[in-house]
Amino acid sequence: MGRVSGKVAIITGGASGLGRADAVVLAREGAKVVVTDVSEEAGRALARELDCDFLRHDVRSEADWQAVAAHTLDRYGHLDILVNNAGIVVPADIETATLEQYRLLNAIHAEGTFLGCKQAIAAMKARGGSIINISSLSAIRGFPGVITYAAAKGAIAAMTHTIAAHCRDKNYPVRCNAILPGMISTPLLEAVTGAGVPGIGQPEDVANMVLFLASDESRHVNGAQIVLDNASSVIGGAA
Ligand code: NDP
Repeated sequence: MGRVSGKVAIITGGASGLGRADAVVLAREGAKVVVTDVSEEAGRALARELDCDFLRHDVRSEADWQAVAAHTLDRYGHLDILVNNAGIVVPADIETATLEQYRLLNAIHAEGTFLGCKQAIAAMKARGGSIINISSLSAIRGFPGVITYAAAKGAIAAMTHTIAAHCRDKNYPVRCNAILPGMISTPLLEAVTGAGVPGIGQPEDVANMVLFLASDESRHVNGAQIVLDNASSVIGGAA
């Protein structure tokens, strides 16, 4: 028996990086996985590799979300796990970032996660489930070069504990947690750094936390912000 046997998972942005690793680990541990992404070629290739579903899905679109939820419920009858993972980064600080960039990052990260949580709660509130929101260390620590990204990730962190409190208030057996990774080696990070960074985390490091939060082992973990950065954020420097 796998750690998530019998569960059904949707993973957004699952064609690459962290989402891809989540799909591999959840499928290995027995989940039925629905990978969604705007990146169709990579998504279809992964679906063939894992024998899972792939749907083209822009997380900014409520109609796309409705189609993804309908497909999942029609095919599997229930939804147990949602990983709100899709995202991009646009490097810019408060002086150089534009309003258009702010709106784009907000639409993908914050609005996309908001829409996903709404679909998931509707599907999960009767029989239970786990929502896992991928935020970022930038939600709680200062990284000057990613202002629009940090603002959107902060919104994800805040909506996570608000949703957890709502579900507990309503006695819905739905948990909602956020993971705040530091630097993890993926194409997105390379877009910021321009090259690989030695000694940073690997996608599997995040996927293993996703697996824990997706499984019933984490049944008392709800509304948490889980920092995953190998102590980067707690090592003191010069004042
Ligand atoms: P990747 O770029 O490797 O993967 C992100 C995936 O999301 C890509 O396939 C991308 O497609 C897709 N995507 C982009 N926009 C949309 C959209 N509107 N709708 C659906 N899918 C979309 O990045 P990572 O794996 O690194 O990032 C995954 C998540 O982890 C992101 O939310 C990121 O912010 C977060 N994160 C990453 C960290 C890191 O260091 N890597 C640290 C902290 C958080 P395409 O390639 O076509 O854009």
